[in-house]
Amino acid sequence: MAYRRALLKSATVFVALSLTAPAVAQSNEPIPVVATFSILGDMVERIGGEHVAVTTLVGPDGDTHVYQPTPREARMVSEADILFVNGLEFEGWLERLIEASDFDGLRVVATEGIDPIAFDDHHDDHHEEHAEADHDHEDEHEEHADAGHDHEDEHEEHADAGHDHEDEHEEHADAGHDHHDHGAFDPHTWQSLGNAVTYANNIAAALAQTDPDNATAFFRNRAEYVAEIEALDAEIHEIVTSLPADRRTVVTSHDAFQYFGRDYGLTFLAPQGLSTESEASAQDVAHLIEQMREEGIAAVFIENISDSRLLEQIANETGATIGGTLYPGALSGPDGPAPTYLDMMRHNATTLAQALSP
Ligand SMILES: [Zn+2]
Repeated sequence: MAYRRALLKSATVFVALSLTAPAVAQSNEPIPVVATFSILGDMVERIGGEHVAVTTLVGPDGDTHVYQPTPREARMVSEADILFVNGLEFEGWLERLIEASDFDGLRVVATEGIDPIAFDDHHDDHHEEHAEADHDHEDEHEEHADAGHDHEDEHEEHADAGHDHEDEHEEHADAGHDHHDHGAFDPHTWQSLGNAVTYANNIAAALAQTDPDNATAFFRNRAEYVAEIEALDAEIHEIVTSLPADRRTVVTSHDAFQYFGRDYGLTFLAPQGLSTESEASAQDVAHLIEQMREEGIAAVFIENISDSRLLEQIANETGATIGGTLYPGALSGPDGPAPTYLDMMRHNATTLAQALSP
């Protein structure tokens, strides 16, 4: 174990040196990189091409919100030159994983530079008339704020103490009541194609920094990818523009589509909050059902990463139809409708448009 660790350390030193003086022998080997979840892994593969070997921690149909890294995955992280993460507190387990893996490479926050939607912005929009239901959301919000980068010290303590995931969250939740004003941001930033351009830029820059010999390829791949992203954005605008104003509100399991809603003028309601970790309260579900009846919301959508039973119950009680399956935060497998990020965005848009068209 100690021997292995020493080897890893010397490998890390070598990588660090190679940043300033690129080693010729290394330039033909794909760079080992890790991405935290399938959408980000797909983006890194697009831009890295044959020059990267991408390992994705949370795979297709996996729920990053409730993921628990295994020792095997910690080892893969320890062997990576770059760890690509979403940030914005999406990966609540990240600090513990980095601690457990002794990762010493480049950590890239792919959302760096994106202007995120504050939790309270859309939270207030959706619940202004339900003030009494707010308390549950605040708890959840605080839990997320606490799991984030503002509290790294706290997190490292937890990692050192070897607390399991549950304990850590309970402690954070308990301690969270004073932190309401910190504000948390909606981490589902990839649900905006405009934001995806920033992801692409950050990924290309990090790969070029680590493997300067192949920088031209990375920036060329980035340019091609961005052109496809922009074309799809225009295509989705076209699809959604045709929907009438009274058929633009939909219900999903958790609050993952605020960026999509902002970009294309749709309103998304959800019984669960920003994370699938928290259960929807009976009160929130009752309010949602009431609101759906009042506003005549016609369609609910299940999610590939979430249990569909609550949504089916809501559909039964309101007479709303189930409009299909949306992909909030994970790709499908290769044979599904969303094997790549761009496929996923197109699938979500066409599924919504088909169900909402009069
Ligand atoms: Zn989510």
